[in-house]
Amino acid sequence: MASKKETMRLESQGHYAASLDARPDEVYDLEFEDLVRKMLVRLGEQPEREGLRRTPLRVAKALDFLTSGYEMRVDEVVRDAVFSEDCEEMVIVRDIEFYSLCEHHMLPFFGRAHVGYLPQGKVIGLSKVARVVDVFARRLQVQERLTNQIADALMDVLAAHGVAVVMEASHTCMMMRGVQKQNSTTVTSAMRGTFETNSRTRGEFIGFIGR
Ligand code: ZN
Repeated sequence: MASKKETMRLESQGHYAASLDARPDEVYDLEFEDLVRKMLVRLGEQPEREGLRRTPLRVAKALDFLTSGYEMRVDEVVRDAVFSEDCEEMVIVRDIEFYSLCEHHMLPFFGRAHVGYLPQGKVIGLSKVARVVDVFARRLQVQERLTNQIADALMDVLAAHGVAVVMEASHTCMMMRGVQKQNSTTVTSAMRGTFETNSRTRGEFIGFIGR
């Protein structure tokens, strides 16, 4: 039988999405569930009331899923999807939806990633670009590091002339608490190779993603 973490990893790859919800009388991770139950008590709740009875289990599962990127490796995710191709033109995948958790508050931040690269004899299946984003988004993150990790990982697997990543995100820790700036978005970018050294290449990418 697969371990819980392994199961979460498979679920995060879309194999068992249905089992993310709680089945009746399901036991998942008693230790984790107990932590959540203690938190509910600390918040002034009664964990035994009907609506909360299976909340500890659901929270444990949800958090395992939302941090399942720790169990994923980029080379496994892109396996069989990097092809030799005599293409040197810029490839851009824009508006990749992502959801992550800020490491300061463990609250969601979410938005869109735009990824471009200049191939050097290798291309990657387009859906795999989104999967690489998920590998790093499904962890506790800061947006700047997330952006850099995606760029470095793609540079690594593609040995491209260059990689560009721009991410725009809304941070619920800003929207719901503290400064309560509901409409502000945070934009981060990471430029590697030609995108870093050549302003025309960079400009072309920025033009394509419409920023
Ligand atoms: Zn935060």
